[in-house]
Amino acid sequence: MIKEDCIFCKIANGQIPCNFVYETDEIVAFDDLNPQAPIHTLIIPKMHFETLEDINDIKLLGKLMLAVKEVAKIKNAKNGYRTIINTKKEAGQEVFHMHIHLLAGRPMLWPPG
Ligand code: 5GP
Ligand code: ZN
Repeated sequence: MIKEDCIFCKIANGQIPCNFVYETDEIVAFDDLNPQAPIHTLIIPKMHFETLEDINDIKLLGKLMLAVKEVAKIKNAKNGYRTIINTKKEAGQEVFHMHIHLLAGRPMLWPPG
């Protein structure tokens, strides 16, 4: 399902032009508009789910994790990478179409902000 006014649905279905880093029939990855690291790519399901809480399909969840590893390979994030899923407002989620951030290319701090 696609949500009319969702920016990531528009990216996933080609309504907004975007270079895909990775694509399958269910998943797409593209670089973040406002990168927080030299490598900052978003991995999303093509179907609209507002948050991680709304995805119960374990196959899709597994495929999203495998996509993370593929994108890390494609981006040559060989020294390591951080994955983040902001879920709901308090966690800092701004785009309510579930996505996984993959950040790499610089040392990451802990604890995160
Ligand atoms: P959130 O805070 O929801 O976890 O992350 C949303 C991310 O989406 C942010 O890092 C933001 O820069 C990115 N973003 C928002 N709008 C667009 C867009 O139109 N294109 C791309 N490529 N990234 C976007
Ligand atoms: Zn959407």
